[in-house]
Amino acid sequence: MNHVISFISDLFFPNRCPCCSCFIKFDELICDDCKTKLTLTDYCPVCGNSNCICKKDKVACERSFVFFDYNNAARNGVIAYKSGENRNFLHYMGTVISNFLKSENIRADYVVYAPMTRKAYIFRRFNHAKILARYTAKATDAKMISAFTLHKSALTQHLLNAQMRRDNCKNIGIKQLDLYGKTVIFCDDITTTGSTMLRASQLLKEKGAEHIICVFGAKSTYTKG
Ligand SMILES: [Zn+2]
Ligand SMILES: [Zn+2]
Repeated sequence: MNHVISFISDLFFPNRCPCCSCFIKFDELICDDCKTKLTLTDYCPVCGNSNCICKKDKVACERSFVFFDYNNAARNGVIAYKSGENRNFLHYMGTVISNFLKSENIRADYVVYAPMTRKAYIFRRFNHAKILARYTAKATDAKMISAFTLHKSALTQHLLNAQMRRDNCKNIGIKQLDLYGKTVIFCDDITTTGSTMLRASQLLKEKGAEHIICVFGAKSTYTKG
């Protein structure tokens, strides 16, 4: 049924690649050319960052998986869903993540996702990390749960410098959960300094999680001071 709706909707609103804006078939998410432009360079397999933070921080997760560099093609795709214009890239990331987790036979008990500020939620009407978490939960036979709280004074991370991001992450709290002995996957669309992952994985550990895995759609290299 969704296929039929997509086909009909395509007649009125032709489907476009979120990365280059070219027209694509109604059932495609991005164009073949942009698929080849998506890259993935080295990252730390524990914290998931290009600039590893494991030496200076106590990282509670034991493995991170990242799928794309935040390069031009990926950046255009991310901007397209963050602006509310085209969500294709988010679903493309979800599909790639899902195929990978299934091929590696990764299983978990719970999948959790990065919280977003109320202001961002009001603007976008959806939490992009939650959409990736939904793909992840389905692929790993896990239950997706809302684990985190976010204090109302929290700011949007990408507007802040590294130290401010860390301080801002103290606004993330965790709900009353018993994760004792469980395997939990934390999802976010982009990792930049690792501060959200650091805080989230420490909170999951405090609730007893035995194994914590992180899944990020893309990694951005932090360049500001
Ligand atoms: Zn394209
Ligand atoms: Zn690391």
